[in-house]
Amino acid sequence: MAVALAARRARSLTTSGAFAAALVGSLAVAAGWRWGALLIVYFLTSTGLSRLGADRKARRTASVVEKGGARDATQVLVNGGMFAVAAAGYLLTGNHVWRAVGAGALAAAAADTWATEVGTWLGGTPRSAWNWRRVPAGTSGGMTTAGTIAMCAGAAAIALLVFLLQWGHGPSWGAAAGGIAGAVADTVLGATLQERRRCMGCGDYTERIVHSCGSRTRRARGIPALNNDMVNLVASLIGSGIAYKVAELIGT
Ligand SMILES: [Zn+2]
Repeated sequence: MAVALAARRARSLTTSGAFAAALVGSLAVAAGWRWGALLIVYFLTSTGLSRLGADRKARRTASVVEKGGARDATQVLVNGGMFAVAAAGYLLTGNHVWRAVGAGALAAAAADTWATEVGTWLGGTPRSAWNWRRVPAGTSGGMTTAGTIAMCAGAAAIALLVFLLQWGHGPSWGAAAGGIAGAVADTVLGATLQERRRCMGCGDYTERIVHSCGSRTRRARGIPALNNDMVNLVASLIGSGIAYKVAELIGT
């Protein structure tokens, strides 16, 4: 709760986002200090990366992204909800498979967040993961070299931490594989099925309902309501599922 309050004050979370973060954090700490440590490391590194070059990122992505800056409850829950479910599962059953599930979900969130924050900061003009055409910075499914390196680093960082916390080889490799699989799924879905909108005023492609120029937008392609939050949720489920399977194959 103290971390959520501090993040609210620093405008990293909205009020609803702070409530959601306090819920996820409480479940994590209840499951054990290792769960809490994992969540805090994810949160601090992601918040820190989002601060780096914040002005440049806001300038580059403002006309494209639906939500910028402070994370709301939906964003917190699609990224951290599966980790909280795993923490609750571990708390209730004591079964170690939940460690792999939680680690995979968090690694997918870290990989995606690090990729986005570093890619929009240091990356050049991204290319679409689908057709390799250049797309504006901040576009879902866009890839840069810097972002891709950060994606792997995010998954590896959580995997390394899981190993250092002595959760075993299975959950560690599970986190690495699940983190990368989740972030790749996020990118591919973002480039293909995710709803993309077009401004009725200036014609720019965007994810916003009302474009930064003030005109309304309409759906240009993709599945209606499959927005960035929904894609993140799917990526989190894939990350935790892959981590579970890999941990099962490797064992402890
Ligand atoms: Zn416009």
